[in-house]
Amino acid sequence: MRPLTSKLPQTGTTIFTTMSALAAEVGAINLSQGFPDYDCDPYLVELVNNAMKSGHNQYAPMAGVMALREQIAYKTEKLYGAIYNPDTEITITAGGTQAIFTAISAIIHPNDEVIIFEPAFDCYAPAIKLMGGVVKSLELEPPNYRIAWDMVKKLITNRTKMIILNSPHNPTATILHQQDIEELSALVKDQDIYILSDEVYEHLIYDGKTHQSMARYPELQQRSFIVASFGKLCHATGWKIGYCLAPAHLMQEFRKIHQFLVFSVNTPAQYGIAEYLKNEQVYLGLPEFFQQKRDHFRNGIEQTRFKLLPCYGSYFQSVTYNHITDERDADFSIRLAKEFGIAAIPTSAFYNKGTNHHVLRFCFAKRQETLDKAVDRLINV
Ligand code: GLN
Repeated sequence: MRPLTSKLPQTGTTIFTTMSALAAEVGAINLSQGFPDYDCDPYLVELVNNAMKSGHNQYAPMAGVMALREQIAYKTEKLYGAIYNPDTEITITAGGTQAIFTAISAIIHPNDEVIIFEPAFDCYAPAIKLMGGVVKSLELEPPNYRIAWDMVKKLITNRTKMIILNSPHNPTATILHQQDIEELSALVKDQDIYILSDEVYEHLIYDGKTHQSMARYPELQQRSFIVASFGKLCHATGWKIGYCLAPAHLMQEFRKIHQFLVFSVNTPAQYGIAEYLKNEQVYLGLPEFFQQKRDHFRNGIEQTRFKLLPCYGSYFQSVTYNHITDERDADFSIRLAKEFGIAAIPTSAFYNKGTNHHVLRFCFAKRQETLDKAVDRLINV
């Protein structure tokens, strides 16, 4: 047979898989891939277990278990004032990544242009390319990674179909501010541009800041797919359950693809999460829970030679190290794992051109003892 023509010739294995594998291989503390090293609430496990024991073991409805969609509708209205119809505007997905892929597939035709901001979470560009779309990226720079909206305006053409936003942001831990929303609103007004808003870290926001969900702003909400994640909300990334919110006419197209991609998502976990969410403290308590970890880790990093970048949200803390070495971040992260026993993510992995600002990303969704042990090792660098 002739060699297969790759659909993604430039794409290798994700940096998360690569760094987690390296951490395991060399026995490093894994602060690379974002996931907790503590267990989720045993009560949640019990609820899922109960759902299994009471016979919820067959296919869920294609769009998700209604009890869970109703809880999501309640939460979204309460937090952001937006009304989503659980029947037609909310779909449960196999995690945020599937929701993102599905939304991009539903909207992007060949040659459509999509604006993304780099560093960008690594699944956006491949999904756009697979649909024949064109990635138009705007590179943001440390320390603040603010979006220059006048530059965004320059990227817009009559083929611009979508803008992908992500707040709180992975990997930079920045957030969208009210002013960004105003600029974005002015930019898309009267334009046929959709928004894909990756809000998987919506509840991980600190210092009393407000999460600028697209759901808060009717003009933006009506053109948006909003993606969220129970992996983050429930400290259970391995369950791979998230959801997508969109107005009915957009959700109808989303579901046409969702039904053939996964059909439906794990049933007992949906019942368990639906019951769990009845206690609002489960998500309202997350900022305090993670802020304590953020502050503890930042205090620790201050004892090292690494320099902290701001962290307003997400469970990531980025640092610069150019005063320590001029090695590229990709090389330095490998040496850090092998020689010092700490695995981190090099931020260049989130730039199409591999732009290196000498920035590393650490995940602080870890037990205090893990963070302390990590700092003890980072002090030696
Ligand atoms: N979102 C997590 C991170 O940024 C991991 C996602 C993944 O491994 N696909 O580390």
